[in-house]
Amino acid sequence: VRPSLILGDSDSIKVFVRVRPLTQGTGLTTDGDQNLCLSVTSPHTVRLLSKPEPRTFTYDHVADMETSQESVFNSVAKNIVESCMNGYNGTIFAYGQTGSGKTFTMLGPSEFDNFTDEFRGVIPRSFEYLFFLINREVEKSSKSKSFLCKCSFIEIYNEQIYDLLDTASASLFLRENIKKGVFVEGAVEKFVNSAAEAYKVLSMGWRNRRVASTSMNRESSRSHAVFSMTLESKESVNEVVNIRMSQLNLVDLAGSERQKDTHTEGSRLKEASSINRSLMCLGQVIMALVDVSNGKHRHICYRDSKLTFLLRDSLGGNAKTYIIANVHPGSKCFGETLSTLQFAQRAK
Ligand code: ADP
Ligand code: MG
Repeated sequence: VRPSLILGDSDSIKVFVRVRPLTQGTGLTTDGDQNLCLSVTSPHTVRLLSKPEPRTFTYDHVADMETSQESVFNSVAKNIVESCMNGYNGTIFAYGQTGSGKTFTMLGPSEFDNFTDEFRGVIPRSFEYLFFLINREVEKSSKSKSFLCKCSFIEIYNEQIYDLLDTASASLFLRENIKKGVFVEGAVEKFVNSAAEAYKVLSMGWRNRRVASTSMNRESSRSHAVFSMTLESKESVNEVVNIRMSQLNLVDLAGSERQKDTHTEGSRLKEASSINRSLMCLGQVIMALVDVSNGKHRHICYRDSKLTFLLRDSLGGNAKTYIIANVHPGSKCFGETLSTLQFAQRAK
């Protein structure tokens, strides 16, 4: 039984800002010699060196360049995984310009292929913690409780949905029904019994994403990757079986950078505008949810984009959402960093 909808929980959307190191790694044409355009002034504030005077932004949490992957997981995902065990849906987004550290935060370093790597990101750590909790619960209940966990992994590109676990399939459609809520019709769902099995599904999908980006000409920085885990718990109490379902969504969003090239035409233009549309809708849905949680009446336009419609049942209501806003601290990234900090501020 799904928990009933309670609106007005101002804790349901949280924002975490993560500043990546200035020079590590690549991925930005602006890498190289440059000054810092911001400083982290407390665990809740970041000071942007804007002109004529600096501006301070406040969030639930601000992580500086030295913050470890483990610490990001503990602040952002631990709670959400725990509430998932209790039947609540949850979503974690990584937002930010290309090169700001979204994939590093969610998955790990790009060459990452190692389950035990200390640089593994939020997604593999969430598997580990989820299965740690599952095993503990099963033991504690002396096996009267059981869990079923399945994963799907899709990509949204140009407002089309592709299955990263089945590259042979054509683009897929969203459907809704009473039992499942909104779902991707025909998407592969893999049952997993351990963190290691979940990790295999993740790396397979990730590899497919990379292959699709070359062979199908889908530029991965322009697509949203959505990894979803569905958890079903069954408990027998005095001949009665209680079933609880919840979903955890882990999302590596498309780069938030504005498309500066005014000469873009045809498919490139379509690409740029639908990316903006998806991210813009996400911003609008989140702002509307913040209003609702502050007691205002707002219509929430989940249906305006594939991303928000897919995540409808995991955004708002009883669901827990964490937005990780990734920023690059270099002075050459000032404009995009300002725009990300402003996006993240609106979600407060
Ligand atoms: P995005 O997914 O937002 O385009 P990436 O996650 O690919 O950005 O990051 C760009 C580069 O910076 C990669 O080489 C990545 O490993 C590196 N990087 C990003 N964040 C960090 C960090 N916190 N610590 C070390 N390296 C990082
Ligand atoms: Mg990336």
